[in-house]
Amino acid sequence: MVKTRIAPSPTGDPHIGTAYTALFNYAVAKKNKGKFVLRIEDTDRARLVPGATEKILDSLTWLGLAWDEGPIHQSDRLSLYQKKAKELVGKGLAYYCSCSSERLEKVRAEQQAKKEVPRYDRKCRQKPPSKEEIEKGNCVIRLKVPESGETSFEDLVRGEITFQNKDIDDSVLLKSDGWPTYHLAVVVDDSDMEISHVIRAEEWLSSTPKHILLYNAFKLKPPIFAHLPLLRNPDKSKISKRKNPVSLIWYKEQGYLPQALLNYLSLMGWSMPDEREKFTLKEFIDNFDFARVDPSGPVFDLQKLDWLNGQWIRSLPEKELADRLKDYTKRDLKQIEIVLPLVRERLKKLSEFEAQTKLFFEEPSVDTKLLLDLGHNEKETKEALGEAAKLYKGLGWGTPRLEGETRKLSEKLGWIASDLFMCLRIAITGSKVSPPLFETLTVLGKEETVKRLKKISSLFSK
Ligand code: GLU
Repeated sequence: MVKTRIAPSPTGDPHIGTAYTALFNYAVAKKNKGKFVLRIEDTDRARLVPGATEKILDSLTWLGLAWDEGPIHQSDRLSLYQKKAKELVGKGLAYYCSCSSERLEKVRAEQQAKKEVPRYDRKCRQKPPSKEEIEKGNCVIRLKVPESGETSFEDLVRGEITFQNKDIDDSVLLKSDGWPTYHLAVVVDDSDMEISHVIRAEEWLSSTPKHILLYNAFKLKPPIFAHLPLLRNPDKSKISKRKNPVSLIWYKEQGYLPQALLNYLSLMGWSMPDEREKFTLKEFIDNFDFARVDPSGPVFDLQKLDWLNGQWIRSLPEKELADRLKDYTKRDLKQIEIVLPLVRERLKKLSEFEAQTKLFFEEPSVDTKLLLDLGHNEKETKEALGEAAKLYKGLGWGTPRLEGETRKLSEKLGWIASDLFMCLRIAITGSKVSPPLFETLTVLGKEETVKRLKKISSLFSK
């Protein structure tokens, strides 16, 4: 049975990398009719952020990556980790260490001065602390890493990977306060929960030999490992807040569609056999294959995501898009349905809807200088706006009619038609860019159009 998991640590806002890793784990589980587990790795008490767990759950739910088991909280399982660590001490595969943090700091500084890789110098491995010292409860438990030989594993993305045991640190497994470290908890849990595939970020690759050694020590068969590439900023550095939004909350608030974000994340280091870029989660699952994962860091490009999100927005049935906009903007569904056809083609994110449609709901402020920049003086501009208001007042309403009559008006006034259109556009919308002018007027209605034109016309002196 295939079982995968996502194991986020609740140390801040839910991260885009968590969504990425969750997506691939979800896909592997679903493709193989297996299970997808959610485990909250909350053992690092110093970095714990209150409320972070709830936000992780909300974000995964928003994305539609539903877990089959969990959430399991590591903080509920302390006695299991303690038992397992002591079991290894009993077998001579782990040992108590009483070194103080001051001593460890000193050792580290000396090693750094000698340009050596900092690591525990194994003092307590050679000379174990006394029984009394252990009973005082100040000791940690460390893994006894073999001094020679090598540790290898097959990574589904990267092939065979080998580490020399002499380069592996005797890491702490259990802290003196009885809390496990990541290494112990991850191995105990992945085996206990019968995880078949550990699919996680590249940054955990160097921890994997320690985990293999732990599996060996527990006489357990390690799972299959796959380390996904790190997402990168456009400058190729590891994705970071400073250069790219990383919080899933931001993506939700900006009005990215979950399908679009998942689609985009699927393209990070992976591609469809036919290279198509827009596809559904189901299509991703059906076509997923580790052989198509490219380990070189994919660049997370917000512009590309915007493009893809726009494609998704346009492919939603109009009614569904209107419903989403209703939830997103809290505007009335009727109002949304009326103006949506005018902006749909240009929307890249739901958040743009408000700015692009505000002109229908509120009178815009108009900068008269923009109007005079069109090359006609105050008198001519006033006349044009006034004539247009008069014309529209007596006209049946509708796009083709409006356009034809406005063209005729431009001839009568001696304006170039496109200049008059721009003049009306600015007066009505406050901006030089808007949805198509006559469609906009049609939706805005005769009364409101005339009112706005008269008002702007009155701003100019005779
Ligand atoms: N808690 C780790 C994280 O936050 C999980 C690493 C793993 O998947 O083994 O990324």
